[in-house]
Amino acid sequence: LEEQLRQSQKMEAIGHLAGGIAHDFNNILTVIVGYGNFLDLDGSLNALQHEQVGQIIAAAERGSQLTRGLLTFSRKQVMNPRTQDLNALVGQVQKFLLRIIGEDVDLQFTPAPEPLHVLADGSQLEQVLVNLSTNARDAMPDGGTLTIETCWQQVDEAYARSQGYGAPGRYACIIVSDSGSGMDRATRDRIFEPFFSTKEVGKGTGLGMSIVYGIVKQHKGFINVYSEPGEGTTFKVYLPEASSGAGADASDPDRAAPVPG
Ligand code: ADP
Repeated sequence: LEEQLRQSQKMEAIGHLAGGIAHDFNNILTVIVGYGNFLDLDGSLNALQHEQVGQIIAAAERGSQLTRGLLTFSRKQVMNPRTQDLNALVGQVQKFLLRIIGEDVDLQFTPAPEPLHVLADGSQLEQVLVNLSTNARDAMPDGGTLTIETCWQQVDEAYARSQGYGAPGRYACIIVSDSGSGMDRATRDRIFEPFFSTKEVGKGTGLGMSIVYGIVKQHKGFINVYSEPGEGTTFKVYLPEASSGAGADASDPDRAAPVPG
């Protein structure tokens, strides 16, 4: 638990730093794109210059996309939350996930038997599932199994404290597991850091998991990773129950009782 709290404080500090840099950097890139477009509009450029200005604009726009990813990690995005059933949401993106993981990877979805109502931004949760599935696929180059499971989970005071934020109560969980390469401890400790990647240059930006972390935190949820080299990886995402206001009243027996399944 100590370790988790230290991890969460580290992410907080990185978030501040990254947010500051991303903000300033984004302003710089906006100037480059703006003047680049302006130059091009003038109509006085020859074909080669037109092509070169185009390259400058394209590179600056790519930089902008990266900094926007950083901002998603460090800062609150506009959320469009609505009460929805997590099982239904996973069901809706399933087709898309199948496309991501390709034919060599099997997808097994085991929904909880009852609906899991959470107050959430659907497109942000989709992004979480897409990023987790993309990494799972990359960890299983020779194929394997991706399993997605949903369930209720009771979070107690000690656990919430260990995360450095959040409240005890009932949480809906999505558990995403792959049978891929797994990770050693040094990798596991750094996966949520922006720009941390073990993939070849050009294959990974190192932003996927930091975006996942930012989205989960913005939903007042938690994320845990369990992974060993050669033994696959499991991510467990907790999202507060819709009616609990992320701080379920522990004296309410209906809410305090863990629900089996
Ligand atoms: P990227 O995928 O661009 O490298 P991410 O932030 O999504 O960036 O992931 C960071 C790193 O975390 C990956 O490079 C990889 O080393 C590790 N990782 C994430 N998910 C998994 C997984 N399911 N199995 C093994 N390693 C993973």
